[in-house]
Amino acid sequence: GTLSVASILAESARRTPERPAVHFLGHTISYGELWDQTRAYAGALQARGIGRGDRVAMLVPNVPDFARVYYAVLSLGAVVVPVHLLFKAEEIGYVLRDSGADLLVAAAPLLAAAVPAALETGVPLVTVLAPAGTPGTDGTELPRLEAEASVAAPIVRHVSVRPTDAATILYTSGTTGTPKGAVGSHLAIVEQVHCALIDAFDMTPDDVIFGGLPLFHTFGQTAVMNVAFRRGASVILLPKFDADQALELLVAHRATVFTAVPTMFVGMIEAARRTEVRPPLRYAVSGGAALPVAVLEAFAAEYGAQVHEGYGLTETSPTVSFNTVFEPIRPGTVGRPYWGIDVAIAEAEVEGRIEFSPDGELGEIVVRGHNLFKGYLGRPDASAEAVVDGWFRTGDLGTYSEGIVTIVDRKKDMIVRNGYNVYPTEVEAVIVRHPSVAQAAVFGLPDATHGQEVHVAVVPLDGHEVDAEEIVAFTKERIAAYKYPRVVHLVDALPVGGSGKVLKRELAARFATVDA
Ligand code: ATP
Repeated sequence: GTLSVASILAESARRTPERPAVHFLGHTISYGELWDQTRAYAGALQARGIGRGDRVAMLVPNVPDFARVYYAVLSLGAVVVPVHLLFKAEEIGYVLRDSGADLLVAAAPLLAAAVPAALETGVPLVTVLAPAGTPGTDGTELPRLEAEASVAAPIVRHVSVRPTDAATILYTSGTTGTPKGAVGSHLAIVEQVHCALIDAFDMTPDDVIFGGLPLFHTFGQTAVMNVAFRRGASVILLPKFDADQALELLVAHRATVFTAVPTMFVGMIEAARRTEVRPPLRYAVSGGAALPVAVLEAFAAEYGAQVHEGYGLTETSPTVSFNTVFEPIRPGTVGRPYWGIDVAIAEAEVEGRIEFSPDGELGEIVVRGHNLFKGYLGRPDASAEAVVDGWFRTGDLGTYSEGIVTIVDRKKDMIVRNGYNVYPTEVEAVIVRHPSVAQAAVFGLPDATHGQEVHVAVVPLDGHEVDAEEIVAFTKERIAAYKYPRVVHLVDALPVGGSGKVLKRELAARFATVDA
């Protein structure tokens, strides 16, 4: 058989070559064109000696070349290693070395970081989107994949892979801090796509999906790109998320599905207050971090589209559970597990076995199924710690009751104040209900008296004034005394990482030094 991640694009190109696959910068690329260009890139990569099992790192933003390079690598049976776009030379070098990359494909805007990383590691570099004559550090012209593709023979067909062969290596810091390469299989990705399309999304080839989530991350890569391409729907690519620009694009392309992380939803709610026009959204999908119910409701009111929240991780390729479009949503929960995925709550790990919590009790969410990663590349210890007796330990606290998963918070984000557990997500969900608050991030800082103290960084809504004492009073009225924030920091924006999630570690570091 030839079922593989590459077949996702190849198959839609075969069935509906004329249909739009990608909208980018005012032009549209059809499935036939995209696959032909991908085959040409694959031919160029093959001419460079890339083949089955080789690893190709890519540093490419959300532009059509991301799709071309991604599927070209996979169509040769090689493994894609998408690199975080915000990584600096040293971090890129780490990924190149750790993944054993055979080649780095880097897009022109990112060459300042890519070139030194390639030079330092000795990994060959080939560019995309760079004008002819672009010099590297030593002054010689950098090779261009486009030029190589124009002379190489395009591949005819993608190669056959085994279901358990590696398709991707995605770097995640997970719960420990150092980035580890999570190896994802063809099977995990293909199964995810089918679960999403058959059981969760109700997507048709006429759907137009927002593609502003970074494609180097599993959420954008599979829940947006692979899913949309498998259905033959089209994706609007946006390289750098800006809510006003996103809204403009959604309207221009008559988008029907908006998939994003919560910070993007917040931005879209504000953007909607600056213009009357709306896209014809059928529904929206949120994941990657907790979506406060107030944000879900505000988005639904502004856009007339229900938000379906799901839960996933890099290691689970990505979706574990989802509020499907086929039944009423349960706000504040992350819905039901996808087909074939088992979810359970762990109370403890004893001698290499998970001890499960009784139904409805809080504990660590553990996951088992076809969607699990193959392990962390070259890290048997970390892999063994993460996967116990076949169960992947997510590091997230939650409950699983009557088939519904609810996330309480990340284990590492839990604050212990005076011996009481405070879950930041719960406190944030209350604070964002304040009429002048756009966003809130709750975090703990060491405190001599209480062990840890509850801090919050608050971003006021555009044009609103927020008073710190008022935030404290507002929260105190609504939740238990040990939970409300004692220290309120008013900020213009929250620090967000490349995948659009709020960086709590950065906030804690910033205010730890301010207060010290
Ligand atoms: P990094 O690799 O930068 O450390 P990360 O730790 O966020 O990122 P990911 O695999 O991107 O790793 O994200 C997985 C985590 O995202 C989950 O463990 C969970 O904490 C969080 N998450 C995902 N979806 C939800 C959701 N719907 N509600 C709450 N948390 C969520």
